[in-house]
Amino acid sequence: MSWRDLYCGELSKDQNDTRVTVDCWVATRRNQGGLVFVDMRDHPGKLQLVVNPERAPDAQTAAHEIRNEFVIQAEGEVVARAPEAVNPNLPTGEVEVQVDTLRILSRSTPLPFQLDEEHVDETLRLRYRWLDMRRERMQHNFRVSHAVIAAIRRSMDDQRFVDVWTPSMTRGTPEGARDFLVPVRLQPGKFFALAQSPQLFKQLCMIGGIDRYYQIATCWRDEDLRADRQFEFRQLDLEMAFVEREEVLDVMENAVVASFEAVGREAPSRPFPRLGYDEAMAKYGSDKPDLRFGMEIQDATAVTRESEFGVFRSAPCVRYIVAPRVFSRAELARLEELAKEWGAKGLAYVLVDDSGERRSPIAKFLSDSELASFEVPAGSTILFGAGEEAMVARVLGLLRLHVARELGLIDPSLDVFHWIIDFPLFEQDEESGQWTFLHHPFTAPMPGDELWDESSPVGVRGQHYDLVWNGWELGSGSIRIHDVEMQERVFRTMGLSDEEADSKFGFLLEALAMGAPPHGGFAMGIERFLALMASEPDIRQVIAFPKVSSGSDPLTGAPTPMPNDVLRELGIGALEPESSSSR
Ligand code: ASP
Repeated sequence: MSWRDLYCGELSKDQNDTRVTVDCWVATRRNQGGLVFVDMRDHPGKLQLVVNPERAPDAQTAAHEIRNEFVIQAEGEVVARAPEAVNPNLPTGEVEVQVDTLRILSRSTPLPFQLDEEHVDETLRLRYRWLDMRRERMQHNFRVSHAVIAAIRRSMDDQRFVDVWTPSMTRGTPEGARDFLVPVRLQPGKFFALAQSPQLFKQLCMIGGIDRYYQIATCWRDEDLRADRQFEFRQLDLEMAFVEREEVLDVMENAVVASFEAVGREAPSRPFPRLGYDEAMAKYGSDKPDLRFGMEIQDATAVTRESEFGVFRSAPCVRYIVAPRVFSRAELARLEELAKEWGAKGLAYVLVDDSGERRSPIAKFLSDSELASFEVPAGSTILFGAGEEAMVARVLGLLRLHVARELGLIDPSLDVFHWIIDFPLFEQDEESGQWTFLHHPFTAPMPGDELWDESSPVGVRGQHYDLVWNGWELGSGSIRIHDVEMQERVFRTMGLSDEEADSKFGFLLEALAMGAPPHGGFAMGIERFLALMASEPDIRQVIAFPKVSSGSDPLTGAPTPMPNDVLRELGIGALEPESSSSR
C-alpha cells in the first residue's frame, strides 16, 4: 500500500480530473452550507478538501469528528475550483479535492497553542517543539538550513577538503570557555572534557598529511546562553596545510557565496573587505563592528590636550560620535545612564541645533578652536567618551550601535561581510595582570613580531582573523604555530611552566616536533550563519531542540539530578554548588 500519491501542497491543476490519495495534518475545518471544508497542511503547503454529504456520507461523519492537527488520509477527485472560489494566495488555490473516503490516522489532544497564533511564549513553543516545528516559519528555517549546509558541503568537496570525524570526548581544549565534563565509569574519578572545538585534532590532521580537513563539528562550551550562544553548537571547521591567510579567507568566501546562491539570495561581493583590528577598535569601538551604517568614532585627544574642561584635559583618550539628531534632555539622560552601565563616568555632549548653534553644559569650557574642530552638520548631537582608551572605545562602540538602532539608521536589507585582521596575539587580564592568548594559544605571531619579551608581550600581533556579518562574529581562525619552540614560547608567556605545558599539551609538542607543515584554518559558527540566512534574531530559531537561557531543555526537562548509586558508580558525588558570587 502506498500512503499517499503526492504532497498536499504540491497539488495543482495538472492533476485536475485525476484521483488522488493525500495524507497530512488538519490545519482548519469549517462547515458551510452542509459542506465540510478541511484545509490540510504539509511542508510544501495547504490543500482544500471538500466533503459533500451527498457524495460521501461516511466521509462526512469522519469530517465532523476531526479537529485541528489530526492526521488524516483523504481519497477523492481533483477538481478545478469555481472562478470565484480560486485562492490566488495559495499555490494549490485553483483546485480542491472532492473527497470520497476520509480516514482519521491519528488524533490530537487539545492543543497548547494554535499553529497560526502569533507571539506564543517561547518556552511553550519549545516545550511542544514538535507542534512548533509544523509551523511555516520553522519549516522554512529548517529547509533553508539544510540547503545552506548542503551547499557548504558541496563547496568544501569542490575545494578538495576531506571530511574527518574527530572525538567529542577528549582533554580540555583552550577556547576560552569552561568545559563540560564527562565522568568515566571504567576509570572512576577521571573525566573527559567535551571538545570546545576540534582545534588540536585538526592541527594533528595537518601533521598527519590530510592537507585539507573539514568537518561540520559539534562543539560544547559551558557559557551563559544568549541570542547567539547555546551550550552545544556546530562549526564549519577547516584546516589547510601550506597556506597563507589569504588562501584561507578565499576558501571561506567561496563557501559563503555558495550558501547565498543555494538559497537564491544575492551574494555579497568578493573579496570581503579587510579591516585591521586597531582601526576597527578606533573607528567602531568593536572587533565585530556593524558596517551597515557610518557614524564612525572620531578622535579629539590632540585637540583637547589644553582644554579648559578638566575631564578632557586629563583623560588619556577623548573621542566622539556624531548622532544625526538633536537629542532631548530625557534622551540624553537615558544615553548617559547606558554609558555609565558600560563603564563611563558620565556623558559629555554638544547639541548642534538646526540653525547650527552649539549648546552644551560644557560649551563655556571649550575654546573656539576646540569647538571648530568638530565638523558637525546642523541637527545633530556630539557624544563624547573620555578616559582609558579601552573604556572609551567600548562605550562609544556600544553607543554607536544603540543610537543607530534607535534612530533606524540600519538598512536591514544590506548584507555587509568583512574580515577583521591583525589582532594582538596576547591580552593582559585586567585583574591578575597575567598575559594570555586573545584567540587561542596555537595562533602564530605575525612575521617580524616573533621576538617578544616573554614577561611583557605588548604590541605583538597575531595571524588571527575573524569573519563578521552585519555585526555578528561568524567565526575565527588563524595561521598556526608549526614550530615547537615557538609553541613553547607562547605557553611560557601565558605563564605555563614547561611541566604544565607538557602535561596539558605534550602530545601536540611531540607532534610539532615530528615534521609539522605550515598550516592555518578557520571555524565558522553554523547556527549563527543559519540564523542570519533565515533572517532570524536568535539561533534558537534554527535549532530543532534548543535550550532556554537557564540552560534547561523545556521539552525533556533535562538536566535532571542523578540517583546516588549512579553517581557512586562513576566515582563522583554531588556537592552543594558554590554561590555564584564566589565563582
Ligand atoms: N578553533 C577555533 C575556534 O573555535 C577556530 C580556529 O582557529 O580555527 O574559535
